[in-house]
Amino acid sequence: MVSDGPLKLGRFSPELFRGFTQERIDEILVANFLDKDNFEVEQNALVVNTGEKLILIDTGMGFRKVYGPRSGRLLANLRAAGINPALIDVVALSHAHPDHVWGLVGEDGKPNFPNAQIYITQADLEYWTDEAKLSHPALGPYIGPIRDTLLPLRERIVFLKGGEDSVSGIQALSTPGHTVGHSSFVINSQGSSIVYLADLAHRPLLQMENPRAEFTRDTDPKQGVSSRLRVFDMVASQKIPILAYHFPWPGIGHVAKRGDGYRYVPVEMQTVL
Ligand SMILES: [Zn+2]
Repeated sequence: MVSDGPLKLGRFSPELFRGFTQERIDEILVANFLDKDNFEVEQNALVVNTGEKLILIDTGMGFRKVYGPRSGRLLANLRAAGINPALIDVVALSHAHPDHVWGLVGEDGKPNFPNAQIYITQADLEYWTDEAKLSHPALGPYIGPIRDTLLPLRERIVFLKGGEDSVSGIQALSTPGHTVGHSSFVINSQGSSIVYLADLAHRPLLQMENPRAEFTRDTDPKQGVSSRLRVFDMVASQKIPILAYHFPWPGIGHVAKRGDGYRYVPVEMQTVL
């Protein structure tokens, strides 16, 4: 897991998480020693070395500082981890939101992963590069830079198809709702699996306890709830570990059933491998 740095999101409110009161959100955050007025989420980009291919899942915010000054660190952190961005063979994108795709291209307009094929669903590419949405009051400001990022790379883009083996051992799992073509990934190796949730959930404290709360930044919040419940149920019942892009770094843990919701159990860091 390589960090792109955190995103500043301000105050979490019932306007963002439908189904909570402000009092309940504040109570949960304060009880967990978190700043209720100034909330951040992490960006954990996963690098998978299959032995044949070097795969990066999601790319962070890139050079644009829309959510505070501390993002845009992926390239430096990859290099610090001994990973040359030019050796990435595949970039798999869970969806086309800024914090997942803008890191594809540098401020000079050149691709940050010059030798990579890019995987994304056709539905997300078409929705988020749609010229007609440039004048949309909420989406418009994002659509231009998303178009500038993805369209020049069009020849490198391969469409993900849910349920099919996309890249040696990594399977795209169609989990729409957060966006129209949102994908999670199942990574299989030597009889074990781990599920990359992408943006099925942003905060474990809020969305595990109350997974039915609609996240209003989802393109279709009701469909987002049903994808979240389907995958949480699968990983909880089969005890499959998860990787979560926006959870506290490194975002690796388990999902356990609790009441009619869930509980996130982060894995303990291993100091000796
Ligand atoms: Zn995201």
